[in-house]
Amino acid sequence: MEISVHLLDPSKRHKKPGDEKHLVFGRVFSDHMFMLDFKEEKGWQNARIVPYGPLALDPAAMVLHYGQGIFEGLKAYRWPNGEIWLFRPEQNCERLNRSARKLCMPEIDPAFQLRAIEKLLAVDKDWVPHSVGSSLYIRPTMIAVEPHLGVRPAGEYLYFIITGPVAAYYAEGFNPVKIYVSEEYVRTVRGGVGEAKTMANYASSLYAAELAKKKGYTQVLWLDGVERRYVDEVGTSNIFFRIGDELITPPLGGSILPGVTRDSVMQLAKHWGIQVTERQIAIEEVIETAKSGALKEIFASGTAAVISPVGEISYRERNYRISDGTVGEWALKLYDEIVGIQYGEREDIFGWMRRLSV
Ligand SMILES: *Cc1c(COP(=O)(O)O)cnc(C)c1O
Repeated sequence: MEISVHLLDPSKRHKKPGDEKHLVFGRVFSDHMFMLDFKEEKGWQNARIVPYGPLALDPAAMVLHYGQGIFEGLKAYRWPNGEIWLFRPEQNCERLNRSARKLCMPEIDPAFQLRAIEKLLAVDKDWVPHSVGSSLYIRPTMIAVEPHLGVRPAGEYLYFIITGPVAAYYAEGFNPVKIYVSEEYVRTVRGGVGEAKTMANYASSLYAAELAKKKGYTQVLWLDGVERRYVDEVGTSNIFFRIGDELITPPLGGSILPGVTRDSVMQLAKHWGIQVTERQIAIEEVIETAKSGALKEIFASGTAAVISPVGEISYRERNYRISDGTVGEWALKLYDEIVGIQYGEREDIFGWMRRLSV
């Protein structure tokens, strides 16, 4: 499929942010976006790059009523030699299609998704920041746009990609987070849509997240929705526990988002000879091992922060300090390695990086 390009008038181009270090995540967007339409009888068509701007949606567009929408999140990294690279992007393209299947939406050839990203970044390459640790965040999204209020999968969809420069997550250094174990509210349940990157999971996480914030915690630790006992995720990230010299993460059982960072952490740790176990971990075990000292680290993994160390956990009105409230050894080592690979400073032994010809 051809991708047509309609460039923004040069006189209307937006100024790049001068201060890349203090960019607020998700507020500045590049000049162009990619769009692609789906109609049942015609399939995907009309691939185009156009100036960034508001969408024209019918107020009856099904995504606005029944939430049939999915998205992805990945980053483009500028290497010191000026080249632009992506980290395991085919994983995001395949995950978008898994999310699409779960939400009864049409799939898009992963190779074409990647070509769309590459062409968009070729147009907006100057938006990929230069300062160390900053990157261009890429947000592919698919929504149901058919105007119809009957409940069924839509027959028309829009896929679009927007991008925007983001600062290094830890511009001010690592800051271990305080997390709050939610027993009252759940994010998702087995058999639900927790394994899909869909809007509903974010909507359902807001209330508990706000409560936690009011109590002074950065994020919610989510327990499974059935027994409210086994750890699922933290915030919108996957979670890891270091107990003794074993690295433990909950298994993908339908309620957990299969993170690309989660998979990368497991591959790296195994490569280093660390025992990595995917198993259910009950909150009682977390608290018991925190008390005994066997629990040495907790950290979250995700594209935005890569690795986010946990310094404190609150459960049933009691607080437990983890790693003395500082950054754990493995969290730091994993962070340095993954970021080093992303910026071309460390050897890419797994062949994760993809160079864009832009
Ligand atoms: C996106 C996401 C993650 C992290 O996935 P990455 O591919 O590592 O960025 C984890 N949990 C949830 C709920 C997510 O939406």
